Amino acid sequence: MKEPKQEEPCLRCGAPMEWRHGTWQCTKCRFKLGCCEGECPND
Ligand SMILES: [Zn+2]
Repeated sequence: MKEPKQEEPCLRCGAPMEWRHGTWQCTKCRFKLGCCEGECPND
């Protein structure tokens, strides 16, 4: 597993996102980046 060095701010709430399971996920609102690979929440 490699971790990106750059943190991505959440596009919704601006909180720092965490790198999990190959995607950026917001711990506050659960917004995901890189959701095009399978599951994609309604948005
Ligand atoms: Zn968020």
